[in-house]
Amino acid sequence: MPRPILATVHTQALRHNLAQIRHATLDAPRVWAIVKANAYGHGIERAFEGLRGADGFALLDLNEAERVRALGWRGPILLLEGVFDARDLELCSRLGLWHTVHCTEQIDMLAAHKTNVPHRVFLKMNSGMNRLGFTPQSYRAAWTRLNALPQVDEISLITHFSDADGAKGIAAQLAVFEAATQDLPGERSVSNSAASLRHPDVATDWVRPGIAVYGSAPDFPDHTAAHWGLQSTLTLSSKLIAVQAVQTGSTVGYGSTFTADVPLRIGVVACGYADGYPRHCDTGTPVLVDGVRTRLVGRVSMDMVTVDLTPVPHAAMGSEVTLWGCASAANHGTVLPIDEVARAGGTVAYELMCAVAQRVPFAVD
Ligand SMILES: *Cc1c(COP(=O)(O)O)cnc(C)c1O
Repeated sequence: MPRPILATVHTQALRHNLAQIRHATLDAPRVWAIVKANAYGHGIERAFEGLRGADGFALLDLNEAERVRALGWRGPILLLEGVFDARDLELCSRLGLWHTVHCTEQIDMLAAHKTNVPHRVFLKMNSGMNRLGFTPQSYRAAWTRLNALPQVDEISLITHFSDADGAKGIAAQLAVFEAATQDLPGERSVSNSAASLRHPDVATDWVRPGIAVYGSAPDFPDHTAAHWGLQSTLTLSSKLIAVQAVQTGSTVGYGSTFTADVPLRIGVVACGYADGYPRHCDTGTPVLVDGVRTRLVGRVSMDMVTVDLTPVPHAAMGSEVTLWGCASAANHGTVLPIDEVARAGGTVAYELMCAVAQRVPFAVD
């Protein structure tokens, strides 16, 4: 029998979250499903069925774009970082990819590109994040230059917020973007998940939700996934492979970081940091055993974690363990939000989703 660890992608939850984002933005904009990083670790092919109701797919890697086309998707695909090399433009022409243009070099490549299929481009403004894009001052000149190229069809306007999930908010960046684009034609795309949910009024022609599609609250712990009506799309589950009785004063795991202050039953779970479970999770991190919420005790090791079985006295070898996501129907489908686990490990759900290791088998339901 293979090691009992499993990652499960929930098709219906992906569909639900997409619908929820459309609802939250009052069905106004079109929705890019962001599927970069192999659909946030879910696997593009595994997530596709749940996401095919999107208006387009946005991603970074050209090979991911090829995979989306290979699934039969004929609608829009957007390269969020644009091309990395002049030859990438040939693939854009061949596969009809729309691409971001964020720097002068990318305009030079387009100007030198031979094609009889003009490209749809998204001209990126650096409105304050200081990562990709033209400054507000240089944006118009970039637009004018692009607009004069026979290689370019429609130009859309795009920017990205640094603080849509927090107190600083989007107002300053939005004001910069609007001031510098007010008399330019073209569709706009500004909102990631956090902006789509927290500032639905600014959701323009195209929204770009990633993490919310995958069931995590972009502004956790301000709000939870349940608050936004989002469902878990990825479950990481395993089983107990051993049970130990630990006496008062005994310790558990490497470094003896946990000491039992009463006699405890400890379950040993087939899941460790080599499966992508964060090593920074420690005693107290929530976990479900047979659908019952309990806690990790001691350090995460490479292939195992140890859990307190006090709230689950009937748990035994073979009991179901949910590291995050949904327990099975037999265990009432209890949900452990990935956001809570990420927080316990000092990180965000994005990282957990993307970090599920190669050795973990996947299922789709
Ligand atoms: C990743 C990304 C998004 C999605 O961000 P989320 O926080 O996951 O919603 C949107 N726009 C761009 C340009 C991105 O790179």
